Amino acid sequence: MSTEIGLAAEKTDVPGGTGIQINGLTKTFRVGRKTVQALEAVDLHTDRGAFLSLLGPSGCGKSTVLRILAGLEQPTAGTALIDGHSPAALIARHELGIAFQDSALLPWRSVESNIELPLQVAGLKPDREQIAELVRLVGLEGFEKAKPAQLSGGMRQRVSIARALVVQPTVLLLDEPFGALDDMTRQKLNLELLRIWTEKPATTLMVTHGIAEAVFLSDVVAVMSPRPGKVLELVEIDLPRPRLPEMMRTPEFHRLHDYLSELLFGTGGVA
Ligand code: ADP
Ligand code: MG
Repeated sequence: MSTEIGLAAEKTDVPGGTGIQINGLTKTFRVGRKTVQALEAVDLHTDRGAFLSLLGPSGCGKSTVLRILAGLEQPTAGTALIDGHSPAALIARHELGIAFQDSALLPWRSVESNIELPLQVAGLKPDREQIAELVRLVGLEGFEKAKPAQLSGGMRQRVSIARALVVQPTVLLLDEPFGALDDMTRQKLNLELLRIWTEKPATTLMVTHGIAEAVFLSDVVAVMSPRPGKVLELVEIDLPRPRLPEMMRTPEFHRLHDYLSELLFGTGGVA
């Protein structure tokens, strides 16, 4: 069930690289005269089109990994490539879709107009039909003209997922996209995310606190240690696809869930 970093290490030899290729990633932040070492020599490798989740205690550097992949932070040392490209190259090619915990919508813009934003930033013309299709995909028909303040938290996160998808990204970076929502809404949106990803598999990194959702959605789960963040273990999720909600009640699912909780919290189960 578990493989060490080795699982994917052999895949680094693939010419041109596929999926997420993180080698020796180190990040030190300077805060005044102090330094904070957020990441220390993180290695992570996945296949192109694979769904990877990052689990780990708060402050262990999950968002830092994601922000480096998104080109929002520069590494202190090491390299991060996705599908053989640097973050800057992916952004220039409009292949990156990002969504954060806080939907970060522009309050004065409508649902439609928030979804179109990345296209406008990229200097591309929004395609009416495509926007309508995305609105349907995330189940927001009838709310096209609504402003964020008129929507529930779950609906705002749907808008932010649609916005992440509007450039038709081959790479999807999700930082606790449903973290602020209640369990029911979260489960529902996870199912929709699964459906969307299955329709068009993008190389995905999702940061999450939820062990169950990590198992349910992922091909591989990376468990990180407390600061400075390192990858403790890569756990391959060998559940078949398509994934169905019923699978969450199978012994295989529970076995993976227990194994990951043990890695995260130790046998005592102390959070
Ligand atoms: P996680 O997402 O796992 O909760 P983060 O990646 O956000 O963790 O942060 C890892 C560590 O780096 C934390 O100790 C955090 O305080 C620190 N950190 C993150 N971003 C910055 C920054 N811009 N400046 C200084 N310290 C930071
Ligand atoms: Mg974070």
